[in-house]
Amino acid sequence: RRNIPGLTWSVFSRLTGVNRLGRRQHEIKRDLCTQEPLDLKEFFMRHLTARIKANGPLSIAEYMKEVLTNPVTGYYIKNEVFGESGDFITSPEINQMFGELIGIWCVHEWQQMGKPDKLQIVELGPGKGTLAADMMRVFSQFKEFNKAISLHLVEVSPKMRQFQLEALTGATTPEDTVVESQRSKYGPEVHWHRFLDQVPNERSCVIAHEFFDILPIYKFQKKDGEWHEILVDIQEGGGLRFIMSRGPTTNAKAFLTHLAETDERDHVEVSPESGIIVQKISQRVSDHGGRALIIDYGHEGTKKDTFRAFKAHKLFDPLEMPGSADLTADVDFAYFKHCCGENVKTFGPVTQNNFLNGMGIGARLQALMQDKDVETRRAMMKSVWRLMHPQQMGWGFKFFAIAPKDTDYVPPGFTPITAHNEPKSEQKSEPK
Ligand code: SAH
Repeated sequence: RRNIPGLTWSVFSRLTGVNRLGRRQHEIKRDLCTQEPLDLKEFFMRHLTARIKANGPLSIAEYMKEVLTNPVTGYYIKNEVFGESGDFITSPEINQMFGELIGIWCVHEWQQMGKPDKLQIVELGPGKGTLAADMMRVFSQFKEFNKAISLHLVEVSPKMRQFQLEALTGATTPEDTVVESQRSKYGPEVHWHRFLDQVPNERSCVIAHEFFDILPIYKFQKKDGEWHEILVDIQEGGGLRFIMSRGPTTNAKAFLTHLAETDERDHVEVSPESGIIVQKISQRVSDHGGRALIIDYGHEGTKKDTFRAFKAHKLFDPLEMPGSADLTADVDFAYFKHCCGENVKTFGPVTQNNFLNGMGIGARLQALMQDKDVETRRAMMKSVWRLMHPQQMGWGFKFFAIAPKDTDYVPPGFTPITAHNEPKSEQKSEPK
């Protein structure tokens, strides 16, 4: 036990289902205390194997949840995942204008709401806190708005919380301290929550960038007219492999009711957890007003097999070295629209290129470049190219908004600027 940093009995028994006083306690103690120090990744592989042996193959959703957010070894709990030196880079990390323009969008929508004197800015999965900090910098330019808002970050990873605390307050804390609330360096209070349900049920503007793509999905494949489920099983001789269930599973019966009769796909992915969160956001918008802006790599109910892993900016086998690579699947915006229901209005999805163009990224770039040297200008233009080019992040990433049912205008960024078709060739750049 001493060999595994941070592993307590309560966490361990939660992971393995072994009671502290259980029959296997003796064996486990011996396993953990007397052997050579176990590599965490190896420990995790053993844990997955034991779980599959005990309960049968895992759904892809269970597998994703374990790999990404398991409290001991989870990818987002342990790793330095972002940036050029990490496994992927996200739009806010590429250029400050991305977050600034989303900030301006929030201020605009607040004005449309009639400038209420209280508004919660809620961000789901804020990563390093870069998007939040870029938005907050913009907000601080609008005194009345800045006075009205509080920032609520929904984050499961204590490590990510540390990054966010530093980005927003400048403070650092020891790794095991959990900060719940703090005043940001921009004025408004920041509050951290583990789940959306913990955010006060008040008027909110919810932002989610590259959040839904890591929420667990189930995968189904059609065979002889019936939906079978794709599962993760143990491979003979070690390692993991995909298998197809023999018949339709309970999940297949429960989670595919949204598919249209006309849907011709023989392979679909669905994230019920995302669906529930989208429903909850819609309920809030319908009950209390506000907006939501969901930004992700995604499609409108047309794609089939998008589940994949990223490591060091390259595609990686999702079953290899679980916990060392990011797992992701495209967001299905048609499913999101279905989950929003009839009590709200939705806008988009439009491409990232469309949204940022509509929000005036060109003019903002001109202004920022004015007093810069050639080298800096070139770097700025290159980063905007990465955000905007169809074969970079410009077309694969989509913006989707939720607003109250009586909204009688199209929010900025959502008016189609040009008719976009999906690029014919495969996306050349990595999606993250
Ligand atoms: N929005 C950020 C980071 C995206 S990565 C950006 O664009 O740069 C996903 C983020 O969601 C990470 O901060 C991760 O720790 C967090 N996360 C993962 N699973 C989560 C869950 N179930 N609930 C809340 N946050 C989660």
